[in-house]
Amino acid sequence: MILPPNFIARTKPLLGDDFEPFCQALEAEKPISIRLNRWKSDHRPAYESVPWCRDGYYLPTRPLFTLDPLLHAGLYYVQEASSMFLEQVLTQHITEPVRMLDLCAAPGGKSTHLSSLLPENSLLVSNEYVRSRAYILAENLQKWGNPNTLVCNNTPEDLGRLASFFDAMLVDAPCSGEGMFRKDAGAIEEWSVQNVQTCVQRQKELLQAVWPALKQDGILIYSTCTYNRDEDEEQVKWICEELGAELLTVQMDEACGITATDCGYRFYPHKTKGEGFFISVLRKTATERVSRVKPEKQNTKLTKEQLAVKKYCLHPDDYQCVELQEAIALLPNRHAEAMLFLNKNLRVLYAGIKAGVWKGKSFLPDVALALSTELNKNECTIAEVDLHTALSFLRTENIVLPDSEHGIVLLTFKGHALGWVKNLGNRCNSMYPNEWRIRMNLPAELEYNEIC
Ligand code: SAM
Repeated sequence: MILPPNFIARTKPLLGDDFEPFCQALEAEKPISIRLNRWKSDHRPAYESVPWCRDGYYLPTRPLFTLDPLLHAGLYYVQEASSMFLEQVLTQHITEPVRMLDLCAAPGGKSTHLSSLLPENSLLVSNEYVRSRAYILAENLQKWGNPNTLVCNNTPEDLGRLASFFDAMLVDAPCSGEGMFRKDAGAIEEWSVQNVQTCVQRQKELLQAVWPALKQDGILIYSTCTYNRDEDEEQVKWICEELGAELLTVQMDEACGITATDCGYRFYPHKTKGEGFFISVLRKTATERVSRVKPEKQNTKLTKEQLAVKKYCLHPDDYQCVELQEAIALLPNRHAEAMLFLNKNLRVLYAGIKAGVWKGKSFLPDVALALSTELNKNECTIAEVDLHTALSFLRTENIVLPDSEHGIVLLTFKGHALGWVKNLGNRCNSMYPNEWRIRMNLPAELEYNEIC
């Protein structure tokens, strides 16, 4: 690996005697890790655990994840291990139900993690500023299946207008990506001193813009995947001094090799099994005005048939049925008012569970309903399929289900929902979203290698 000379000049003084082992670690094999979805399965595989994350595991080799239907069923997420330290930060500082914003959330590694970890009855607002990436974020969160989530595509300024709306906020900032050099060769090519300065400036701007949305005493988690102090500790100091916050600490097991600094926690590849990462946690001390959440009325009166969609919920009394984005959505009662308010003020991609649409007298369920942890499978016609059929379905190819009832059928693989088809008898129409389809060709010989 050829490191940029300016990167060496800036990083050597930071690491001292550790610089050589650091460079050697960059040449070593990168660890592969996954995080399981505890709300979909309690199976515990026999892999080595990630010490700072209950559901995190290292895999001995990199499998072909795309060809595992359980990845598409939201059973696990492929995530670099260091970033899973978010779990320690979150569980030590957020113990009551909160409204939490993940400002820079795509593709969704940390948002899926947050949605699993937040105390029950919390609301997660997961935002991504780049539109194409926001759709990928929505896909990953819908596969993860937690109904307490809303995905939006807004600027930090848009969110900053929601004064004191959030109790907690994660800013996993766009950064110069020095910690990704081993994982992503492109990160080296894009690196320059000038780009570091641009990132520093952008981070300040987005933090400043979103800051009013965090209430006084609210928790800010700031993270990057870079090593230079300008984007890490110096930004944390700037937040404390200019925006008004105090630094908090995180208890950790020293044996893990995590480096505590004056303003946060660093992960170096020669000391911890993972990529480069920095994380810090702060409490907002500055006062903030409060904007009132005005209750939103539902725009249309739903018919009895439309309301019948609730039967698909395991806990129908806990959900409200509303029309949102031209579909029927199921919103958790506790968050319905906030979700409708956000829908009015932001560019929301989905909220709660996108349940489906009515076409005349037929209800066409959405893939998000199939993948939701709230789906009541007793209300569905189910067809358990083999690996080849599951992958054909995920490629949106026509499949046949000769032994299944006609009509809308939920496909499962190893008992886990993948999505819906309309079974016509001689073939099935796929109801899987075209944008989500697997584009990879299937190998001639298919063999299932169980990952989790
Ligand atoms: N948190 C994500 C995860 O765990 O999967 C990774 C986020 S990545 C480090 C930073 C994100 O910030 C990118 O998705 C990028 O599109 C977004 N971004 C870029 N410029 C931005 C800006 N000016 N304001 C807010 N977000 C921005």
